[in-house]
Amino acid sequence: NGDDLLQPLESCISDAERFKEAATLELTCTCGAHFAFGGIQESSYYTVTFSGIQCSSCGTQLSSLRVASQLERLIRHHISLYYAGWVECDDVSCGVHTRQVSVYGKRCIGNTGRSVGCKGVISYVYTDRELYNQLLYLESLFDVDKARRQELRPLQDDTENRIRSDSGETKKGISQSTLDALAEQNRDTFGAFQSVVQKYFEQCGRRYVDMASLFNFS
Ligand SMILES: [Zn+2]
Ligand SMILES: [Zn+2]
Repeated sequence: NGDDLLQPLESCISDAERFKEAATLELTCTCGAHFAFGGIQESSYYTVTFSGIQCSSCGTQLSSLRVASQLERLIRHHISLYYAGWVECDDVSCGVHTRQVSVYGKRCIGNTGRSVGCKGVISYVYTDRELYNQLLYLESLFDVDKARRQELRPLQDDTENRIRSDSGETKKGISQSTLDALAEQNRDTFGAFQSVVQKYFEQCGRRYVDMASLFNFS
């Protein structure tokens, strides 16, 4: 089945590469601070403690309900992007970005909207593959085993911080023993967040995708 096919792919593509284009999950604390959540890894903006995600600005523990609802809101946003069906022209000089596809099929309607003046071909801006990848990324954020193996997509802002501060004292990551402990302590809570994502996989009917079409870049 689809899961068997997924195994070798997951082992040869890193999350950093695979989820390069995925939108980050921004969490907002009750204090108003918001930050990109990258799972159990080092961040200047949040800490994963033994009992969940803690805001570094005010020290508040974000409630599970808060995290789940913000996660769900992001998922719905991406699903609506996909269903909105925006298309664009492959001719860069044309730049048509529209939702009007039904009449003209794959041929660009051009800037006049009357299918003249452009020989470009239009395609979906937000593809099912991107939506699928986005959901996989969000699911990965709560994958405690990936966190233990330090395989999560690195946080962009923190990478920059590390580079900036490398003349000073070395910023040390979370130790392996702490990672192991945090993974176990948060397994159930994070598993519940993964279920939130999985619910949408099932809803979209994309849990078992046709891998051939997903990875056909021709
Ligand atoms: Zn806060
Ligand atoms: Zn065009």
